Amino acid sequence: MPKGKKGFQKGHPVYGGFKTRFGKGNKPSKPFEKGHKPWNTGLDADKQPFAGKKHTEKTKRKIRQAHLGKKNPAWKGDFASYSAFHAWVKQYKGKAKKCIICKTVKGKIEWSNIDHTYKRKLEDYQSKCVKCHRKHDLKYNTK
Ligand SMILES: [Zn+2]
Repeated sequence: MPKGKKGFQKGHPVYGGFKTRFGKGNKPSKPFEKGHKPWNTGLDADKQPFAGKKHTEKTKRKIRQAHLGKKNPAWKGDFASYSAFHAWVKQYKGKAKKCIICKTVKGKIEWSNIDHTYKRKLEDYQSKCVKCHRKHDLKYNTK
């Protein structure tokens, strides 16, 4: 039985075979049904690339979400940055001059946030020298 390119392109190679076998007009309907099956299989194969595209889109979304997570800063307070809160406190309370812990006025005195939430509450800030400030920070910074 020669399987020519002509029959294969039409998608009825099985039908062609049956036609020749029952060619004398005995049972034309049954071979005809069987001949359609290769067509459906061929369509299913065509759908497979679409499924692949879907998977790629899903993967892309995953990567995008990962990048968004990285964009979120560790900063959880009300201010955009650590220096932003310093500028804000200085604006309302003036320059920190005296440490409330060791009462020193020497060296660098900074504004310290009591509970490290960095909210816009002036009463939450205390003036402390660098030494006392670092001690206070160590209690909150677990890193
Ligand atoms: Zn101090």
